[in-house]
Amino acid sequence: MLLNDTLLNEDSFKNGLMEYPVCDCDEKRETVSHFLLRRPRYEEIRNKLQNVVDDIWTSAKRKDHMHLSDNLLAPTQNDYVTKRMDR
Ligand SMILES: [Zn+2]
Repeated sequence: MLLNDTLLNEDSFKNGLMEYPVCDCDEKRETVSHFLLRRPRYEEIRNKLQNVVDDIWTSAKRKDHMHLSDNLLAPTQNDYVTKRMDR
């Protein structure tokens, strides 16, 4: 996914394997982000995953919120995790 080498329509379009990058569920491009975080077809399972993440986050007594987002897919170069944060 990080190398944009998937069989999703966006990558296939860029590689000349598809005529259009559009997802078959709507008018959006079928990117990794759309596929994993926004595609309506997977909303129910995504919500279940968010609930599990929330439970784990709560059990770790974190006061902030871990939201499934684009940053989890590919952190930007400015994002970093220290050993302390990774505990
Ligand atoms: Zn879609």
